[in-house]
Amino acid sequence: MRSTDIVIVGGGLAGSLAACMLGRDGFDVVMVDPHAVYPPDLRCEKLDGGQVKILHKTGFAPSVLRATTHDGEAWVARFGHLIDKKPSDQQGIMYDTLVNTLRAEIPPRAECIFAKVNAVYTSRYRQRVTLNTGEDIAARLVVMANGLNTGMRLALGMKREDLSPCHSITAGFDIKPLDRAAFDFKAMTYYPERATDRMAYLSLFPIGSTMRANLMVYRDMNDPWLRKLRLEPVAALLEAMPNLGKLTGAFETVGTIKIRPADLYVTKRHQQPGVVLVGDAFSTSCPAAGTGAGKVFNDVERLCNIHIPRWLSTPGMHEDKITQFYADPVKVAFDAECLAKAYRLRSLSVDRSMPWQARRLTKFVARSCVGALRQMAAPVAGGPSGHEPSAEQVRAEVRRSA
Ligand SMILES: Cc1cc2nc3c(=O)[nH]c(=O)nc-3n(C[C@H](O)[C@H](O)[C@H](O)COP(=O)(O)OP(=O)(O)OC[C@H]3O[C@@H](n4cnc5c(N)ncnc54)[C@H](O)[C@@H]3O)c2cc1C
Repeated sequence: MRSTDIVIVGGGLAGSLAACMLGRDGFDVVMVDPHAVYPPDLRCEKLDGGQVKILHKTGFAPSVLRATTHDGEAWVARFGHLIDKKPSDQQGIMYDTLVNTLRAEIPPRAECIFAKVNAVYTSRYRQRVTLNTGEDIAARLVVMANGLNTGMRLALGMKREDLSPCHSITAGFDIKPLDRAAFDFKAMTYYPERATDRMAYLSLFPIGSTMRANLMVYRDMNDPWLRKLRLEPVAALLEAMPNLGKLTGAFETVGTIKIRPADLYVTKRHQQPGVVLVGDAFSTSCPAAGTGAGKVFNDVERLCNIHIPRWLSTPGMHEDKITQFYADPVKVAFDAECLAKAYRLRSLSVDRSMPWQARRLTKFVARSCVGALRQMAAPVAGGPSGHEPSAEQVRAEVRRSA
């Protein structure tokens, strides 16, 4: 039987980053994933400044940033009005490129096996992982980074607790202008015109020379509007955002519209000897809140920089060691904020009660003021001032949005 210090089950974002860090730090590590090359997958497609900051702590930010497209400036539109043109630090990158870029950084001493893990057997000292190739691997620790695949966790007696099924739905597609070579903006976040539209925002951002679109909505997967989005994307987008065309000009979508729901869940009965869960394997976050990749980076950074080196310095892999990771104050705080942000954004987008209407209005006014001040400080040709709504327009928009 092959023997190692650590087996990583799953080579997505979390598993690949963990293999990079543990291999670099001299641990004996084996990462197991069915795909030699991570396939195209609708997931996180951009990193923000906060996420990149955490990635820097892992040491692998420079390699990732060489593969991203920096937007530099983003327009912000609310209630159908352009209210700000702000500096932006978004880094666009397709998910498969992100994972494969990290995989290319895995040092040779970390072994990658392209197979499926069939089962994991854990104990306080020695763990065993069986592969679909018939091979068994013995290890001191199993890092479970197998994402949304819950079967193996259930087999270990863990439990998936659903917090908010189909919390949000993400649509990903490319768009291009019809009557010009390029859009007038480098990136744009377009917030809903009305709460009844049940959307969080449309984010347009560059990846290479392509303008990528991520549309985040709060709808049922059977909603006929989603069907329309697949069949007549431009008409469906303009139905939900009638003023979008004022900022984009005429446009078309290119290629397939990928649509995917995301559940919010957390794993319970997870504090077990010999195995630790990271990324989506432990809990998911809302794509609209844009916190999933940050949560993965935070988990892996804490686990590989702090906990694993301590755990392996003494014999055994008791439950008390594993518990230290789940109780890590940085992890606990980060996970709690991801969850809070998921609910906050949903309420801010769709809740029609008075307190949330008031918050929407406050945010709109505050953002408009910031945008106007920014333009006064550094006027940009064609800035948002020409589009700024009057006080009466604002009141009308808010009445309409409710
Ligand atoms: C539609 C959508 C949009 C999103 N958008 C954003 C966003 O805009 N911003 C953001 O920050 N986050 C976003 N997220 C969240 C973010 O993408 C995820 O949190 C992150 O990708 C999770 O990474 P992971 O490594 O935990 O899981 P994954 O990347 O799914 O990796 C799991 C790996 O485990 C492997 N695996 C599974 N079973 C086995 C097995 N039996 N044996 C071996 N390997 C196995 C899989 O092949 C896969 O490689 C989005 C998520 C979704 C679903």
